[in-house]
Amino acid sequence: MAYRGHFSRGFMTEEEKANQPKVTGALLKRVFSYLKPYSGKLVLVLLCIAAASFCSLLPSILTGKIIDEGLTQRNLSALVKYIVLSLAVTLGANLIGVVESYINTWIAQHITYDMRNQMYGHLQKMSQRFSTTSRQGDVITRMTSDIDGVQQVITNTFTSILSNVITLIIAMVAMFRKNWVLALIGMVIVPLFTIPTRRAGRTRWKFANESQACNDEINGILNETLSVSCQLLSKLFGREQYEYRRYEEANSRMIRLNIREGMAGRWFRVILSTFTSIGPMLIYLVGGILMIRYNQDLTIGDITVLVALLGRMYMPVNSLLNIQVDWMRAMALFSRIFDYFDIPVEIDNAPDAVIPDRVEGNVVFDHVCFGYEKDRPVLKDVSFELKAGHSIAIVGPSGSGKSTIINLIPRLYDVDEGCVTFDGIDVRKLDLGFLRAQVGVVSQETYLFNGTIRDNLLYAKADASEAEMEAALKKANIWDFVQNQPEGLDAMVGNRGLKLSGGEKQRLSIARVLLKDPTIFIFDEATSALDSISEQRIQEAIDPIIRSHTSILIAHRLSTILAADEILVVKDGRIVERGTHQALVNQGGVYSELYETQFSKALQPKEDGVSALEEYIWGQQPGDEPA
Ligand code: ATP
Repeated sequence: MAYRGHFSRGFMTEEEKANQPKVTGALLKRVFSYLKPYSGKLVLVLLCIAAASFCSLLPSILTGKIIDEGLTQRNLSALVKYIVLSLAVTLGANLIGVVESYINTWIAQHITYDMRNQMYGHLQKMSQRFSTTSRQGDVITRMTSDIDGVQQVITNTFTSILSNVITLIIAMVAMFRKNWVLALIGMVIVPLFTIPTRRAGRTRWKFANESQACNDEINGILNETLSVSCQLLSKLFGREQYEYRRYEEANSRMIRLNIREGMAGRWFRVILSTFTSIGPMLIYLVGGILMIRYNQDLTIGDITVLVALLGRMYMPVNSLLNIQVDWMRAMALFSRIFDYFDIPVEIDNAPDAVIPDRVEGNVVFDHVCFGYEKDRPVLKDVSFELKAGHSIAIVGPSGSGKSTIINLIPRLYDVDEGCVTFDGIDVRKLDLGFLRAQVGVVSQETYLFNGTIRDNLLYAKADASEAEMEAALKKANIWDFVQNQPEGLDAMVGNRGLKLSGGEKQRLSIARVLLKDPTIFIFDEATSALDSISEQRIQEAIDPIIRSHTSILIAHRLSTILAADEILVVKDGRIVERGTHQALVNQGGVYSELYETQFSKALQPKEDGVSALEEYIWGQQPGDEPA
C-alpha cells in the first residue's frame, strides 16, 4: 500500500510519541460520527474488500490445480479451464478493486468536504482575538494538510487494515488446510521479516526528517525572498547574489539528503528480497523431504500453492506491523482537528438577539473596561456618548487605546465591564449581522483584494449599479483616477492593492464604505505620512462624510480633528479630556501638548506670515463647511 504524507513512516517520532492522543471512547465515537452518514456505502466497501481479497488469493490456490491436474496429468482441457478461471478471478478482483476504490474515494472526499466546510464556517465565527493570536500557518495547515490527512486515513489506513486482515485470514486458512506442517514452517519466517522493515524504516525516516527540515528551510527562503517587499529590499541593497547562494546551498543539501534516502530504500529492498526468499525455500526443502523421504501425500501443486500463499502474506504482515503507528497518527490528526472545532465561539449572536425597527445611530460607552489579555486592562472606565448625526474625534498618544475603543462598537471584541449601546440597546443583545451592517470602518491598514476595482467595491454591496459605484468613487475623490485607467473599473489593484498608491488605496476603501452606506462611519486615520496632495484629497473625501453622518474618527490630522463636533483625548486607556478644540487648547493639558508636538508642522508660517493652521482655525469654526 503506497502511503504518502502523514502516513509514510513505520514508527512515531519523539514529538509524535510525546503528543500521542488518548484514544478514548468519546474520541472514537466522534471520529465515527463522520463516517455514520455514509454507513451504507461503507458496508459496500467492506464487502468489496472481502470479495477482492478472496478473488486475488484464488489464482494462487488454482496454481496447484494447474500443476497437478493440468500439467502433471497432461490434461489439456483441465489446464485451459484453470488458466481461464485464474485469469477471470484476477480480472474480477481488479474490477471489484476499482469499484471499491471509487466508493472509498467518494466517501473520503465527502467526509473531508464536510469537515472543510465545518472548519471554515467555524473559523469565520472566530473572534478577532483568535485571528490576532493564532498563527496563520497553523490555521492553514489544519484546513489543508490535516484534513487531507483524514482523507488518507479513510482511503488508506482504514481500508488497509480491513483488506490486510481479510487477506491474512484467508491465506492462513488456505495454507493450514493444505498442509499444517508446511504452513507452520512457512510462517516461522514471518517474524524475521519485521527486522529489516523496521530498521530500514528508521533510517529512511531519519533522512526523510532531515529532508523535511531542509524543505521547510527552502520554503522559508522562497517565501521570504520572493515576497514583493524582500525583492525590492534585496535589489536596493544589492543582495541578489547573497540570496542566490543561500538558496543554492539549501537546495544542494536537499539533493544530497534525497539521494541518501533513496539509497536507504534500495538497501532495504535488497535485504527484504533476501528474507522473502528464505520462506519459500524452507517450504520447498521441508515439502521435498516429506515427499521424498516420508512419502507423504503431498503434490508439487500443493507445495507451489503454499509458496504462493506465503508470498501473499508478506505485504499484509508488513502493513499490519506498522498499522498501530498509522492508527495513532490518525487519532492524533483527528484530535488536532477536533481541538480546533472545540475552540469556543467568543462573539456570537445572543439567542434572543434583536433587530430594532428604527435606526438612529446613537452610541454610548457606559463605564467600559476592556483588556485583550487577562489582568492587562487597556480601556479603563471609558464613558462617552455619540449622538446620531454628530461626530467625535479621538486623539491621544500611540498605544493609548484609540483603536481599541472603536473595535468594541462592531463587537470585534466584547467589553469586560460596563457596556456599549447602540440606540439604547447593549450591542451584545443586537443581531450581529444587523450591528455590523450599521458600522462602516475605514481602517488604518487598507485591505484590498487582489482583483479589480469593481470586485473590491462589490464586496461592500454585491448588487451595486454602475451609477452607485460612480457616485461613491466621486464622493471618495477617486473617480478621476478610475477614469484614467485604460480598463476603468476593471483595472486590477494588485496583490493587497499594491498597484495603487497609499492615498489611492485609502480613497478606494472610503468609496467601498460609502457603498455600504452604514449608519455610523468610523475612520481610523492612517499615521503613515502621505504627501500633502494625497492628504488633501482624502480630507476632501472625509470632511463631507463627517459633517453629514454620525461618525467617529481616530484623528492624527488637525483638519480632521477640527471637523468633529467633540474631541476625546485618550491617555493610558482613559478619557482624560473632552471638549472642543479651542477649549482643550486653552485648558493647557494633554491635548494642548499633543497639539504643540504633533501638529507643529501645520503651524509653519506661510509667506504672508499666517500659518495654514491658524488660517484654518481662525478662519472657520468647527461645524462650518470647509473653505
Ligand atoms: P495607535 O495610534 O498607535 O494606532 P492606539 O491608541 O490606537 O495606537 P490601540 O491599538 O488601541 O492603541 O492599542 C492599545 C494597547 O493595546 C496597546 O498597548 C497595544 O499594544 C495593545 N493591543 C492592541 N491590539 C492588541 C491585541 N490584538 N492583542 C493584545 N494587545 C493589543
